[in-house]
Amino acid sequence: MINKKIILFENKEECCGCTACYAICSRDAIVMQSDEEGFEYPMVDRDKCVGCGKCLKVCPMKD
Ligand code: SF4
Ligand code: SF4
Repeated sequence: MINKKIILFENKEECCGCTACYAICSRDAIVMQSDEEGFEYPMVDRDKCVGCGKCLKVCPMKD
């Protein structure tokens, strides 16, 4: 079964906004959205995401 519950981060401290996940997603399932302070964070569109996990692998904030 495909895991479509991709969570890029739980807290904003776990994301530096590098856009690597956004850049690597071949499904255009990630959009960068500005928060109230103007910092951009990625959001996953679960209808487009196929659960490939590339975004998690490329993220420099993950181990
Ligand atoms: S798991 Fe794959 S399809 Fe889903 S958001 Fe990440 S890179 Fe895109
Ligand atoms: S790759 Fe990781 S640190 Fe970079 S924008 Fe995506 S979630 Fe944030």
